[in-house]
Amino acid sequence: MSLIRDKAFVNGEWVPSQKGKSFDVVNPTDGSVIGQVPDMDVEDTNVAIQSAYDAFKPWASTTAKERSNLLRKWFNLLEENKEELARLVSIEAGKPYKESLGEVFYGNSFIEWFSEEARRITGEIAASPAKSKEMLFIRQPIGVAALITPWNFPHAMITRKAGAALAAGCTCVIKPAEDTPLTALAIAQLAHDAGIPKGVINVITSNRENAAPVGKLLCESPLVRGLSFTGSTAVGKILYRQCATGIKRVSLELGGNAPFIVFKSANLDQAVVGAMASKFRNCGQTCVSANRFLVEEAIFDEFVERLKNAMKNELKQGTGESCNTGPLINVSQLLRVDNIVQDAVKKGAKVHLGGSPAKDLGERWYQPTLLTNVQPNMLCYNEEIFGPVVSCIKFKSEEEALKIANDTPVGLAGYFFSGDISQCWRVGKALEVGMVGINEGMISCTEAAFGGVKESGIGREGSHHGIEEYTDVKYLCFGNL
Ligand code: ADP
Repeated sequence: MSLIRDKAFVNGEWVPSQKGKSFDVVNPTDGSVIGQVPDMDVEDTNVAIQSAYDAFKPWASTTAKERSNLLRKWFNLLEENKEELARLVSIEAGKPYKESLGEVFYGNSFIEWFSEEARRITGEIAASPAKSKEMLFIRQPIGVAALITPWNFPHAMITRKAGAALAAGCTCVIKPAEDTPLTALAIAQLAHDAGIPKGVINVITSNRENAAPVGKLLCESPLVRGLSFTGSTAVGKILYRQCATGIKRVSLELGGNAPFIVFKSANLDQAVVGAMASKFRNCGQTCVSANRFLVEEAIFDEFVERLKNAMKNELKQGTGESCNTGPLINVSQLLRVDNIVQDAVKKGAKVHLGGSPAKDLGERWYQPTLLTNVQPNMLCYNEEIFGPVVSCIKFKSEEEALKIANDTPVGLAGYFFSGDISQCWRVGKALEVGMVGINEGMISCTEAAFGGVKESGIGREGSHHGIEEYTDVKYLCFGNL
């Protein structure tokens, strides 16, 4: 594949780590090694930060139209190379090809969107209280942005951040997840080919052991002005603390524990379609995946039966063209998911489907699993499962459903199905989450304001709000007029 790179991208050049170290990138479907990338440390990161810093002033002083045109060229190249990008996503993240193509379409759309939004960053003139003064608010780019991204969307999590940062006039240092660095490097190559100046985008690759020191430097370097992170709540908290020392701008998109509520007035056909889409996209490894299915008593058995049938009939695990469900990203995620399932079983959950690793397919594969009798003392009730596991809880009233739904410190996405319009409005407002799917299981798109409340994060990505994370408001007061 011509977009596979074995070096990192710093100051417009492909570079090894200064110590000459590298690490393997593995295909999760079978564990085979598909490439090697540099294992960069804090010294390498300092060089990348300096290059982003040096590139900042010239980039920030380009016109919005110039930035828009460059982003558009980048988008066009991403589109021209969408099949190859999708193949890359598939081999390093283990996604079925069709799903990878979907991610590339989604990821590319952020660059298109922000190429348009770049030209709509405007200011305000406030009504002055004094005749001799005029008050203006302008928006300026914050400076160098550090972007740390996860493996579950190796393409889209980068473009969602970098598109907004570049549109605003920021430069960036990207640290992709150690499991999926190849897509990030390919995206950087296409940015370079599009004519985005050297230093504006830098990608450093690090193995897991270097992630913490590199992350700390990205948070604490005085040359970096903001951090945008997508990943686990645990790591997000560490980075938030580290950013406090320099009062950095922070945008965090962390884990969720999404409730998926099915009320008795729901259209059950739609609810099952929504449940399948929300739960099984990327084998349950998305931060907005439904995590706890809350189903009203009167329709509980019917919903469980229908969902079980859909899982049996529609989910095809494997790597063939007709397959739509891949492996988990790595062995430690598989062990974590299995531990969650075994904990539930030990505490009295009933297994309707699956319940163990799919060993015949390889060491990272897990059977689509359906559990009922889920209780608050189980891990699957409290933790983000990040795997193909449905856990069902029975409720008797709207009040009880909301109490269970909100009984968690996190609040990213929530879903519910109801045929009662008053209930739709009430529940939509009462769910303590940043995004709600109402009679809908797929809510992500470029135009949407993506983000969470409570411990799920700070800030919004996508939509016109995405740019705000990368700009400061400056107040100019003209006096003695
Ligand atoms: P996951 O558990 O899904 O891998 P993480 O939050 O651990 O999610 O990882 C998301 C991103 O954060 C990855 O790029 C990873 O390398 C990075 N990361 C992990 N630990 C740290 C850390 N202590 N400091 C900075 N980045 C980290």
